[in-house]
This record gives sequence, structure tokens and C-alpha cells, in this order.
Amino acid sequence: MKIETTKIEATKIEIMRIERLPVLQDNYIFLLHDPDQQTAAVVDPALAEPVLERLQALGAELTAILITHHHGDHVGGNQALLERFPEAVVYGSEADRGRIPGQQVFLNEGDRVTFAGRTAEVLFVPGHTRGHIAYYFAPSHNAGEGEMGELFCGDTLFSAGCGRLFEGTPAQMVRSLSKIRSLPDQTRVWCAHEYTEKNLQFALTVEPQNTVLQQQYALVKTLRQRLESTIPAELTLEKQINPFLRWDLPSLMATTQTQDPTENFARLRAMKDRF
Ligand code: ZN
Ligand code: FE
Repeated sequence: MKIETTKIEATKIEIMRIERLPVLQDNYIFLLHDPDQQTAAVVDPALAEPVLERLQALGAELTAILITHHHGDHVGGNQALLERFPEAVVYGSEADRGRIPGQQVFLNEGDRVTFAGRTAEVLFVPGHTRGHIAYYFAPSHNAGEGEMGELFCGDTLFSAGCGRLFEGTPAQMVRSLSKIRSLPDQTRVWCAHEYTEKNLQFALTVEPQNTVLQQQYALVKTLRQRLESTIPAELTLEKQINPFLRWDLPSLMATTQTQDPTENFARLRAMKDRF
């Protein structure tokens, strides 16, 4: 009698664990950990020390540093991380060439970065700075039901707010935020700062009747009283509460008294600058 054996092929499940390291006044560094390979990538390391401590605790090797833009509170830890992990690759925007310490890879819109079997697509999102990029990891193809995409957007989009326009125009920022707005609803937004509570206070001044916004403010106030984080935000909720993703909403255009969506965005941003 012939015995047939069935070879069972294990499906490799890509796991990318994301950790949040709160540093400085209100910055977040994000640590991406691949427990399979014991490797890690870090997004916008303002400081090296908290990252090195966490890597040691995990027993993981740093292989990549993903930078969204050149500001000091996003790149301050690069040099010291490279001293400890000289093999780590520093990614950043082509348009930031010369202003990101240790940068080795110069990225443009549509370029790809892989980590933990997942692939991030690069979105060019200037406005806060002229070189700003975001990294979008779509859900992996063998994703389970309910798996989310992950967006690391630096200082472009905040929960209920957006970055100041230091090196860009309102039109540029609207184009950048349009790209983010068109990502799937099931996207978690990993913003680089904990500005949510103050942003919601401003948002309520321009949309006082928005009940979703009112509820979110109540929730966030409670979270912050307990010193809990409001990040990651969910894109589907942001579309309902974030005035800077709602620049073309007729009621908001009426509030700032313009017919032009980009001008509405510019006026909202200017009002927020003075808030
Ligand atoms: Zn910045
Ligand atoms: Fe920042």
C-alpha cells in the first residue's frame, strides 16, 4: 500500500509591530519591529537614546531609518543611531538632499521601501517643507479581515490638524492632503506630534455643529487627562473631523466666506496660525 503524504506549506505571515515612543515635548518616534527577523526600522528619530534602549530590550537590530522631512525634531537621532548601527540605511526625500544627516537613499513619489515583508509607497507631500514625504504601507496581501494600512506622515497631517506651511503654499498642501485623503478609509495615521486636543479646540471654532467632532473632543480630553496617546488616528474619522481634510466642504467655505476651496484652506490655516 502506498502512503501519500501531503506537504503542508506554511503561509508566511508578515508581521510588522508598530511601537510609539513619546519624546521631547510632544513628538512621537515610531519603531517598526519585525519579530521574525529581529530587525527594526525607525521613523523620524528625534533622539537616539530612547530608540537604542527599546532596541536593546527587544534584542532587535536597526536596519532602516525612515525620515519624513529634515526638521531637527525628526532627524536629531540619526547620527548616534548610525554610530551604533552603521549598516542602517537612512531614507529621505530627494528634495531634502543635503539636509538629512546620513541620508543614503533619495526618494521620489511612487518609490518603494520594504520592511518586514511589507512595502511602503512614498507619497511626495510638500507644504510643511518643500521636501516632505510620507510612507504608506498598504495592508499585506495575506492580510486578515480588518487589517489596516499604515501611514507615516510626519508633520503633514495631524489628528484634527495639519502642519504649518513653512516652505510651501496652500495649493501645494491641498494637493498633498488630497493624496492622503484618497487613501483607503482603513488607514491608521501615525502623526509625528501629539497636537490633537488643541487642534480639536480650533476645529470646533469653525465647525461647532459637527457632532462627530464634539464627541471626538470629549474622548480626546479624557484620554489626555489620563496622559494617553491619541495616535494613531483613523483616516475615516479624520475625514469627518479634520477641517484641513474638509477644505472643499460648502459649509466650511461659507464660514471663511470664499467660493474657492484652496482659498478656504489658506484661510483656515491662517486662522489656525493665530489660534
Ligand atoms: Zn516639522
Ligand atoms: Fe515636527
